[in-house]
Parts: sequence; C-alpha cells; structure tokens
Amino acid sequence: MELYSELFVFNDQPTTCPSCGARTEIIFDMTHTRDVTQIHKCLSELCQREFVMVQEDDINNG
Ligand SMILES: [Zn+2]
Repeated sequence: MELYSELFVFNDQPTTCPSCGARTEIIFDMTHTRDVTQIHKCLSELCQREFVMVQEDDINNG
C-alpha cells in the first residue's frame, strides 16, 4: 500500500482532507478489525486525495 504512506489519527473534529480541508467520504472501513483503520477520499473534484485514518489507542499507554 505505497499509496498510503501517511497515516492520520482520528480526533474530535470531523475528518477533513489533509490537503485542502474539504469534506471526505469513507471508501473503506476497517474500524471493526484490529487495525482500526478507515480509508477516506476527498470529496473535492480537484483534489480527490485518498488517505488513511487510524485510531491511536496506545496514546494513553503509561
Ligand atoms: Zn482534498
């Protein structure tokens, strides 16, 4: 999956495109798996960037 070289972590805000800030749609949802990952696609016709969102549950470790 070289296309998805960057990972973005879910936060309190609705997910938006990291390139242009437009709304996104979920094109692949693996949040029910242990990877807890969603692949989003930018809804802007000019951008259409795809990126990966991950849940960072380990952040409270320690
Ligand atoms: Zn975009």
